[in-house]
Amino acid sequence: MRPAHQERPARPLLIIGWDGATPELVEPWMADGTLPNLAQLAKRGAYSPLRSLVHPLSPAAWTSAFTGLNPGRHGIWDFGQIQPGTYEVAHTDASMRHGATLWDVAEECGLRSVVMNVPLSHPAPKPTRGVFVPGLGATELEGACWPRDLAGLIKTEAPGYAIDVNSYDHADPAGFLTALHDMVDSRSLVAEALLRRERPDLFVCTFVATDRVQHAFWQQSALPTGDGTRLGWRFANAVKDTYVRLDAALGRLIQTAGPDATVLVVSDHGFGDLQGDIYLNSVLEEMGLLDVWRPDEAPSGLLKALTRRLVDKLPPALQPGRAAPQEHQPRFGDIRWEGTQAFARGLFGQIWLNLRGREPLGQVEPGPEQDAILSAITTRLLALRTPDGRDPLIDAVFRGGELYEGPLQDEAPDLVVVPRDFRWMTRSGREIGARGQLFGPAAVGHTGNHRMNGVLVAGGPGVKPSDELPLQRLLDVTPTALALLGIEVPRKLDGKPMADLLGCDVGWTDELPWRAPPAPNRDTDPERLAAQLEGLGYLSR
Ligand SMILES: [Zn+2]
Repeated sequence: MRPAHQERPARPLLIIGWDGATPELVEPWMADGTLPNLAQLAKRGAYSPLRSLVHPLSPAAWTSAFTGLNPGRHGIWDFGQIQPGTYEVAHTDASMRHGATLWDVAEECGLRSVVMNVPLSHPAPKPTRGVFVPGLGATELEGACWPRDLAGLIKTEAPGYAIDVNSYDHADPAGFLTALHDMVDSRSLVAEALLRRERPDLFVCTFVATDRVQHAFWQQSALPTGDGTRLGWRFANAVKDTYVRLDAALGRLIQTAGPDATVLVVSDHGFGDLQGDIYLNSVLEEMGLLDVWRPDEAPSGLLKALTRRLVDKLPPALQPGRAAPQEHQPRFGDIRWEGTQAFARGLFGQIWLNLRGREPLGQVEPGPEQDAILSAITTRLLALRTPDGRDPLIDAVFRGGELYEGPLQDEAPDLVVVPRDFRWMTRSGREIGARGQLFGPAAVGHTGNHRMNGVLVAGGPGVKPSDELPLQRLLDVTPTALALLGIEVPRKLDGKPMADLLGCDVGWTDELPWRAPPAPNRDTDPERLAAQLEGLGYLSR
């Protein structure tokens, strides 16, 4: 990897992440003066929606944004990942990532970087010049920052600094918002201090507050005066106020960086409403493809079948598993693998076969049987309707191999299910045991959910001003950033430099940057991480 021979690289380059920032809100709020700093940046540069990847989930999406690779090459799919050859699910972190990040490459080319709060960037290898502050995936700053003593300095500078917020507390929505705003303010304070002190060539900072507030308050923000409820009226501006705070922080960072800085604001996905959760495991159970041990059922095969037949004769309300989801006893670990051919686990709709030779107790023969079951599930899913019966519930079902390519594409789910307009989501197998029940309330009270299109706003010396930038791709952020920094762009990246955006030449290389993955993360308390992910609605146990 070499610096390209570029006369005047766009340094410093600032990449500010607004997790989940969505065109539906950003466009009108840039136009009406709600977000003056973002609008100003777009005015001297360009704006366009930014297409995420299926599924538009932060671990995979931010990793693609900062490696230029699709998940078939970087190997990060979801918050929890089934470990190959087992039924164990491990919390995802950067030690599972293949491929080099933008800041790894910048470092290799002798540039200084400051990287703050990028989800799933922890643990990071020790940079020789740069500064690293972890994001979601770390529970503590101590032992996770580079240099190591930075955690103490951050705590002194911003005593309330938080990597993320705790879960949305229904009993105290105002307290949740206060914690959220404190998180933005302390992050912004530390970001400005590091930018001023370190004077890096590359500065990356992700703010997750937009995602968290939209999950919790999308419904209340749906109308100018809220959704018509008391809560809606009180919190009608919760989402807007958070964007305004981020815009003010952006203004201060642009000011601190000075007029020579090139600035990109990017989001990993957009946002919209969430209707509720859908229980794909119920569909599989109904098709006879999934078998679950229940505490009320005898483990012997015959007795079990008899019990099930008796249970099925009970009125629905008395049947086990028909109660509210939180009362379901069975969990992912209660699947009876010897009787299971397919199972769903993950956010947004991921289905795996229990394949012979791949899973330890595989039941499906690879080849025609595998193909027939995948086709049968696809047909069944595409026939599902929304609760009012008006629309199809599922927009598309892909085979994993259709969407991803690279040496890790076999780790993709066998089926990738796209719920209608992402207005429904699955929840990491939380519903296992909800026999016969397809719909449920959204976990942890969310009313907002991700969408495919996020946003891109760019301005500064390296950006070609444009009023009508066409739709850009999240996958192209890293190649574009490399070109802006004056670093040769590897031809083998899945992403390409954004030709319509760049006001500089692009140098190319056939080398593909690679960096050994960091050692597995042993500093993070797995219980605390699980609690955090569960609170955010990303994981169930
Ligand atoms: Zn989210």
